[in-house]
Amino acid sequence: MKHSEYSAIIVGSGAAGLYAALKISSKSQLSDGILIITKTRLGESNSRYAQGGIVGVLHQNAGDSISMHIDDTLRAGAGLSDKATVKQISELSDRVINDLMKYGVDFDKNTDGKLNFTLEAAHSYRRILHIGGDSTGKGIVDALSLKVQSDKNITVMENCIAVELLINEAKVCKGLILYNSVTDEYEVVYSSAVILATGGLGQIYKYTTNPDGATGDGFDLAYNAGAILQDMEFVQFHPTALAVSPTSKNRFLISEAVRGEGAKLVNKNGTEFMAKYHDKRELAPRDIVTRAIYNEMQISHSDNMYLNASIIDKAKLLMRFPTISKMCEMNGIDITAKPIPIAPAAHYTMGGIKSEINGKTSIPGLYAIGEVSSTGLHGANRLASNSLLECVVCAYELANYLSSINLEVPKTIDQTVLNKIDVYSQSVDTQEYNIDELKADLKDIMWNNVGIIRNNEGLTQALEQIRNLKNNFRKNRKCLNIEEYEYRNMLTCAELVTKSALARKESRGAHSRNDFKQTDEVANHSYISNVQNSESLEYAK
Ligand SMILES: Cc1cc2nc3c(=O)[nH]c(=O)nc-3n(C[C@H](O)[C@H](O)[C@H](O)COP(=O)(O)OP(=O)(O)OC[C@H]3O[C@@H](n4cnc5c(N)ncnc54)[C@H](O)[C@@H]3O)c2cc1C
Repeated sequence: MKHSEYSAIIVGSGAAGLYAALKISSKSQLSDGILIITKTRLGESNSRYAQGGIVGVLHQNAGDSISMHIDDTLRAGAGLSDKATVKQISELSDRVINDLMKYGVDFDKNTDGKLNFTLEAAHSYRRILHIGGDSTGKGIVDALSLKVQSDKNITVMENCIAVELLINEAKVCKGLILYNSVTDEYEVVYSSAVILATGGLGQIYKYTTNPDGATGDGFDLAYNAGAILQDMEFVQFHPTALAVSPTSKNRFLISEAVRGEGAKLVNKNGTEFMAKYHDKRELAPRDIVTRAIYNEMQISHSDNMYLNASIIDKAKLLMRFPTISKMCEMNGIDITAKPIPIAPAAHYTMGGIKSEINGKTSIPGLYAIGEVSSTGLHGANRLASNSLLECVVCAYELANYLSSINLEVPKTIDQTVLNKIDVYSQSVDTQEYNIDELKADLKDIMWNNVGIIRNNEGLTQALEQIRNLKNNFRKNRKCLNIEEYEYRNMLTCAELVTKSALARKESRGAHSRNDFKQTDEVANHSYISNVQNSESLEYAK
């Protein structure tokens, strides 16, 4: 099998992966360069579709403060965020946002040339930076991709999927195996720093705001390698995804910032309902708004509710949200005149690979940053626009950490690693599977029983169905193509989310069970749920 060596391998080319590559390149002594591998083309990622913005607690934004941002994040996190992590990330935001600007990231400014800050749900201050009104992710990804392409230390391999991490007998990560879909070949890449920046798992749900690639690959890779994952039950459902037809599955997001600018949630009669659910109404934490919409849909037997943005000044609305207004127009909705049909959709993975803010995981040599990681920032519910911030702060801290250690490529490879490689040298049985159908079955199971509202009966049933799907799929980890690998990874994620949801016998943040009362008090007890590659599920106090 073809093999190569790099000082660092980054899996994924979203905000976390791209920025990490640039920072590692600028800070470390690299004898063997950096490799980015990415499933499709460079920059195609969840990051690319981020609309609303990125949190910046900046010195020049008089009136805002680290402590206000910490309070907002902890409140949204419903008692499960790690306060020290929240503080560190908040404190670093000024330095990292200013650094991003040096890489060509051009945040929107007012006519006086000062940064324009907007407001989003559950933030107590206007501290969200944005680009192109509502195409912040594209602005960040395009700027960073340009820099990556001209950085001589960085090699990019597109259309490649990481399929296995190489863990040696001493339980240290030494590299990975990738499948190149262009050449239809497997390759081994050795490195003493493997960085997972593979994003989330929204695609395990029938309705999601995530693009096709968000199949949770990094969770599977890390779990299979024996890393600790935590809080997998906490999947955020965004309240307002465009719901033009029940058959549209990947749903276009209507950013929280639209509510931040004054849009109201209404039912089909135009009646507002959020006052019944929270005193912050449209700007209540995401999970509360999602459950309110879900409840209104249930009691009125409707497929959707509506977001009335037509009450916002027309010129302002079109200028602030050009992408949203254009997408709605393509679907026959003039947002300046008509309410937008919306419904909740799976959006963000709060849990993930347990990691420090410098990306260190429970396996030496393996790092996780961005949405695939779980640093403790988000707790049970992510505060809007904190995720892009976490991506870049953790990439920055990871580069700092790696600059302090030796990034020499591994010199000796033991039998445990060679055995792993051997699996991918062997042929796989040619049984064919209808992957589209299998994915659809899995997504239905997850949406119906492991979705916005859960209970013991539905979760137990879902777990059994997922295990049946697993038993009926390839026993060998080697698959035939990218789609099969994605399905394999989705099955792992579905099982982890469901097992963790069953084990958390309470309703907290985004994990809502109708057999347990909602307990969101920050002062309440705080359990972190850990899952590792075994049937056991540990709850550490
Ligand atoms: C529609 C939408 C709007 C959002 N809006 C906001 C917002 O306004 N503010 C905010 O803070 N957050 C927002 N989020 C969330 C935020 O965008 C993501 O959490 C964040 O961008 C994740 O970045 P990442 O770099 O960790 O992963 P991603 O950006 O998802 O990148 C993952 C990368 O890994 C690659 N990859 C995955 N698996 C493999 C594999 N096995 N082998 C090779 N490559 C692989 C993918 O191809 C991709 O390039 C939004 C999300 C969505 C979907």
